[in-house]
Amino acid sequence: MIIDCHGHYTTAPKQHEQWRQAQIEAHGKGAPAPPRPPISDDEIRDSIVNGQLKVQRERGTDLTIFSPRAAGMGHHLGNATTSEAWATACNDLIHRVCGLFPENFVGVCMLPQSPGVSPKNSTAELERCVRDHGFIGCNLNPDPSGGYWTDPPLSDPYWFPIFEKMVELDVPAMIHVSFACNPAFHTTGSHYLNGDTTAFMQLLTSDVFTRFPKLKLIIPHGGGAVPYHWGRFRGLAQAMKLPLLKDHLLKNIYFDTCVYHLPGQELLAKVIPVDNILFASEMIGAVPGIDPETGYNFDDTKRYIDQLPLSAADKTKIFEGNARRVFSRLANRDSKKTMEKA
Ligand SMILES: [Zn+2]
Repeated sequence: MIIDCHGHYTTAPKQHEQWRQAQIEAHGKGAPAPPRPPISDDEIRDSIVNGQLKVQRERGTDLTIFSPRAAGMGHHLGNATTSEAWATACNDLIHRVCGLFPENFVGVCMLPQSPGVSPKNSTAELERCVRDHGFIGCNLNPDPSGGYWTDPPLSDPYWFPIFEKMVELDVPAMIHVSFACNPAFHTTGSHYLNGDTTAFMQLLTSDVFTRFPKLKLIIPHGGGAVPYHWGRFRGLAQAMKLPLLKDHLLKNIYFDTCVYHLPGQELLAKVIPVDNILFASEMIGAVPGIDPETGYNFDDTKRYIDQLPLSAADKTKIFEGNARRVFSRLANRDSKKTMEKA
């Protein structure tokens, strides 16, 4: 089985994001948000069958761990109340996708974060999504300001309430920023990769995993600049008299394979232990085009992993085993399905 641990609902019916725009406009005028638009099951089916599911079938992957569109989270817009309504709407839509296509999608939620608002505010939505919707993880934005980094680093007790809830529910978080409103940053070209790298360094200089030994975090997009600069991070840790990174961070931090060329994947697999790499493509996402050098889509990451000089057992870990370990609630979903079939 091939589990893609990083997919967003980038093809949601248009009225979903139109409502978001109307909600933020209304908020700006001090008016109440309009009612949510109807979205039919057929519209959802169309958006998936001609989108993510089609690509899954073409590429031979089986299950996508699916979350709301990341750039659309827009935590810097509105306030805590609008973020809560938007997160609820987005997560409920993911739940409907997973209900219509239970074999192919399992949910991960976005959180109703806002700059300067305690992450404690997000614990209820995480709990609702895990307990009521059967979601198996969340996306955690380390910079809800959208590129201005106004909130404390992940090492700060500010974040501990959401870490506590994640540990209690036994769900991981993917560290994932959203749309950049700072014009210095391109959202997917620099802000995403900066977010990944910055979060890693925040965790390196922290005792978060001593406090939360069961906390599991995934750094997406191949870890930003982290694997490429592994020597720098090892050297910095040594200079700061911190433990070896394998003991300090790699019992809790995982990297995904959203790296869009073979040399990058080769480096990732060479530098980061196989046990810490999870297959992902983020397909129909930031880089949807075809690479003229290969003739295949940049985000068809399965092809790169197929070409890596790893044993079949190691590839199975990357494609399936590690995801099952990190997203441990996948086991509940599978046992529920077995019971339903029996
Ligand atoms: Zn993403």
